[in-house]
Amino acid sequence: MFKVGVMITGLLLLAGCSSIQKVVQQPLPYHNKLQLRDISSVDMIVIHCTELPTLELSREFGETVHYKSGTGNSGHYYIDKDGVVYQYVADNRVANHVRGHNEHSIGIEIINNGRYPDWYTTGSQQNVEAYTPQQVHSVIKLVHRLSEQYPSIRNIAGHQELDQSLMPSSDDPNIKIRRKVDPGPLFPWAQLMSTVELSKR
Ligand SMILES: [Zn+2]
Repeated sequence: MFKVGVMITGLLLLAGCSSIQKVVQQPLPYHNKLQLRDISSVDMIVIHCTELPTLELSREFGETVHYKSGTGNSGHYYIDKDGVVYQYVADNRVANHVRGHNEHSIGIEIINNGRYPDWYTTGSQQNVEAYTPQQVHSVIKLVHRLSEQYPSIRNIAGHQELDQSLMPSSDDPNIKIRRKVDPGPLFPWAQLMSTVELSKR
């Protein structure tokens, strides 16, 4: 009886473990130059798509230095097409992923073409690539885990809601286009919001 009990407990533990999301830790080269913050100041998750077709290109972009501080632009998390989650920046550091809201948010980047490769031409302003079921599953799981881990997180937003600035298109300066359109209309907000207790901004 005892052995059976131990076995059952072991199986239950295993089953429990498999529901814990594996996150591959891959800190950016300039990671330690990113500003530290009190994690209780984080109140929002921002959903992005990379507007790049692969994790490799997204990593390359993330590693590129844009600022005098020796840092660049990236999210905290990246979700590849197969649903595997990578962490480039620790939750307690400020990543540069959304103008005006970096200090108090965590950025989740989903690998998806967006408008790639003609981001700013008038004819390519529609996001047409669907998110994979594995990506949707992983993003929901990650949002759950973060909002449970950090009770200060109350809001969630798409990058496109937080940055509505316009810019001249690259092929016709008289036509203004949105600087940011991610994660776009194909992101399953209804599916995500039906499972979390966060306010959508
Ligand atoms: Zn974005």
